[in-house]
Amino acid sequence: MGMFDTIHLKSPLICPVCGGQEHSYQTHAFDDVMANYRIGSVVGGALLTGIVQERFWCSACHKVGKSAESPVYLVVWHSILVGLEQDFARAEARLSAVDRLDLIGWLDEAQRNENRRKRRYYGFLNDVRRWHEHLERERNPEPVPEGETAEQAKRRKAFASLWRLPEEILSAPDPLAAIIANNTPSQGENDQDGIWD
Ligand SMILES: [Zn+2]
Repeated sequence: MGMFDTIHLKSPLICPVCGGQEHSYQTHAFDDVMANYRIGSVVGGALLTGIVQERFWCSACHKVGKSAESPVYLVVWHSILVGLEQDFARAEARLSAVDRLDLIGWLDEAQRNENRRKRRYYGFLNDVRRWHEHLERERNPEPVPEGETAEQAKRRKAFASLWRLPEEILSAPDPLAAIIANNTPSQGENDQDGIWD
């Protein structure tokens, strides 16, 4: 099949034969660069505004030897993918009904995803830095201040631990794996913002 792009869908495509649902759709309508899109994405390719007919391929039907193809319509408006419809009349209606509220909604979603991605990136980076500092400290322990009382030592350690990785990560058999696991979004979060984030 070669290269394609993938559209991730909140509302699944539904197979008209078996009722099977697909939450993603692979298309050749755009640049075929293994890009990931959702409704509201700016897409590549030559189509600026219009409707492309392709075929939706149902894997469940294919498995049981049924004819697995039905039409699907990609709706593009000013290079934005505004819909993926299984009925031509609905595709036409979608194309003519894009309004400012749609655009604001997509913009808002894109900004929220970007913020979430940044938070994840910096959270992960911070944890790896703290892990690195921890290794440094193990090699090069901080000198104990001269004449420090037990109470002062306790306070100094408690203060320093505010910036350290949690104990459950430091004492894990593989701390780096624990850091990665800690910073990997759960399935639910993935559903919200697309698996490619
Ligand atoms: Zn099917």
